[in-house]
Amino acid sequence: MNSRLSIDSDHLLPQQRCPACGHLTNRAGGGAERPSEGDVMVCISCATALELGPGNLMIRLNTGKLSTEELAEVWAMQQAVKLAKKAVHAKRNKRTG
Ligand SMILES: [Zn+2]
Repeated sequence: MNSRLSIDSDHLLPQQRCPACGHLTNRAGGGAERPSEGDVMVCISCATALELGPGNLMIRLNTGKLSTEELAEVWAMQQAVKLAKKAVHAKRNKRTG
C-alpha cells in the first residue's frame, strides 16, 4: 500500500461539507486507489471518522460495525490528523510568538 498522500485529480470528491463540523472539501487523501463507496476516512479539520456513501458523499462512520483491528486503524488516522494540526499550530505560534 502506498502511504503517501495524494491530492491529484484522481482523488476529487463532489464538493461537500463534513457532516460533523461543516468543513468544506472536494478531495480525499489516499494512495494509488481512487476514493470509492465504502472507503473510510477522517475529516482533516475535526478528525471525525467518516465513510464514503453513495455518490462519494461523506457520512459519519458507524464504528459499531468495525472489528477491533479496523477501529485501531481509524484511531490511528484520527491521531495522525490531530498530531498534524498540533504541529501546524506550534509552527505558527513559533513564527508569530
Ligand atoms: Zn469535520
